[in-house]
Amino acid sequence: MAEFRIMVDPYLIPEQYKSEIELVRKTAREFAQRYFTRELAREVDHKEEFPWDLYRKAGELGFIAATLPPEYGGGGLTTELASAVITEELVRADTTLGQGILSGAFGLYALYLFGTEEQKKQYIPPVARGEKTFFLALTEPDHGSDITQLSTVAKKEGDYYVLKGIKTFITNAPTAEYGLILAQTEPEKGYRGQTLFLIHTDWPGVDVKPLKGKMGQRASPLGEIRLDGVKVPKEYVVGGPEGLNKGFYWALQYLNIGRVHVGAVALGMMLAAFDRAYDFAQKRVQFGRPIIEFQLIQQKLAEMAQLIDISRLAVYRAHLILDEYIKGAVEPRTMAAISSITKVFVTENATKVIDHAIQILGGSGYMEEYDVERIWRDHRVTRIYEGTTEINTLTIVDSLRRGFYTL
Ligand SMILES: Cc1cc2nc3c(=O)[nH]c(=O)nc-3n(C[C@H](O)[C@H](O)[C@H](O)COP(=O)(O)OP(=O)(O)OC[C@H]3O[C@@H](n4cnc5c(N)ncnc54)[C@H](O)[C@@H]3O)c2cc1C
Repeated sequence: MAEFRIMVDPYLIPEQYKSEIELVRKTAREFAQRYFTRELAREVDHKEEFPWDLYRKAGELGFIAATLPPEYGGGGLTTELASAVITEELVRADTTLGQGILSGAFGLYALYLFGTEEQKKQYIPPVARGEKTFFLALTEPDHGSDITQLSTVAKKEGDYYVLKGIKTFITNAPTAEYGLILAQTEPEKGYRGQTLFLIHTDWPGVDVKPLKGKMGQRASPLGEIRLDGVKVPKEYVVGGPEGLNKGFYWALQYLNIGRVHVGAVALGMMLAAFDRAYDFAQKRVQFGRPIIEFQLIQQKLAEMAQLIDISRLAVYRAHLILDEYIKGAVEPRTMAAISSITKVFVTENATKVIDHAIQILGGSGYMEEYDVERIWRDHRVTRIYEGTTEINTLTIVDSLRRGFYTL
């Protein structure tokens, strides 16, 4: 019989990126095979601990800030698609460990895009190298989906801004030495009067409380940051004097990137669930046959395959468009539509895929021992953070109605 080979790349990866993508896929896969263990994953999940050792190792390989330039300690990869593939591979290997280490630098890209040269040179490299973590604090107890008016205020007093307020649900707050805070510099201007500040967590007046008891993603620490009259020198306004009152816009422009990255995380989680369900279906025998021979099981596997295949296409496409967006070639509100479409499609379908995986495993799917229970817990928040499905849905329709995206 003739030997068949796929003659086309099913994901249409541009020719110029193919060798880079193949190399990062191989390196990420080998990294996970070597260092990720089920025991470690369960341990950090139980104890809610950040896997520092793995994070440092990933930083040495350039995985933490894969597409940032080497002069900032980044991996220097040429396309965001490469970072998608690293995420896909690490999260596919283990959802808790992969997501945990990759979120250690959450928000760093905002500093890269909007910080002054001095801010970038000083603060990005230790995070990119996996020595420190980072945070981006937008959410407050009374302002989650709606951050157009914040309770956290920054009052100018001479050469300082004095920050007062509470930020909550902040990824990495308990481990990070510094990160970004969004505050009202001119409360009467609403979202047009918000500014991003770089702050250190050991400055007087800053108090960080870890928030324990998350459903999933328990290797990724969460915390509340209380700011009680924190004196922030004016040099710590992100972007310098020009950054004043740009915070809200910059936060949204950053979320255009973050939401696409969440798509890659959810893709990795779908694949993790599929791998386990497919393996189980071949081995588990009922009524004298492996359950994969039952059509009702085949139907679920086929649906999982469709949703994963098209989600991967969506995630890869969005990362390639991100390359253009980061260069300034895509209008932010057009990118917002593409980011929201990608995030909603992939994260909502991740729920379907992972739910099918649990069903295929039957009672075992409900038990810790078989991992899909943990994958379910890990994936669920992808529909909530960086804009809920509802908020991203509103963005999609708004973009269509205002002509920033057309179908
Ligand atoms: C694990 C985790 C990590 C996080 N990390 C960070 C972080 O690092 N930095 C940060 O700043 N924040 C972070 N968050 C916060 C997260 O972004 C918010 O939880 C999210 O934006 C939703 O805000 P909320 O929880 O206040 O819900 P709410 O805004 O109160 O929403 C409650 C419900 O109402 C719906 N809703 C709200 N408005 C509308 C509307 N107009 N139309 C229809 N439905 C609506 C929402 O979709 C949701 O279903 C994190 C949260 C979690 C759980």
